[in-house]
Amino acid sequence: MTTPIDELRTMLAGMDEYERYRLMRRMEIEQSASENDGTPIIECERTPSGLAFDCPYCEVRHFHSLQDDPGGHRAAHCKPDSPLHNGGYILLPIEGKLPPAPVKRRGRRAR
Ligand SMILES: [Zn+2]
Repeated sequence: MTTPIDELRTMLAGMDEYERYRLMRRMEIEQSASENDGTPIIECERTPSGLAFDCPYCEVRHFHSLQDDPGGHRAAHCKPDSPLHNGGYILLPIEGKLPPAPVKRRGRRAR
């Protein structure tokens, strides 16, 4: 008999490292949103172009470029189909750099 856990295992096993990472990031953000009245807290790093994080919905790096940005609530730089698009997010700058994301495999499916 196949249980939902078995189905989840099969699904995860069929995903590559990047897809699993992206799914985990989205689940972390959705959990944070549910714990913070719908607005997720997202860790970001300081870069010469401002606060930055890799968005698992848009699959691009979003930059928020205020001088000496302490973080806080921001309007999302997300595409309209991102669940973050309407409510934005709370940026939480960390010391140092975010862990690097796995490299996305190219050419697997049209987007
Ligand atoms: Zn985004």
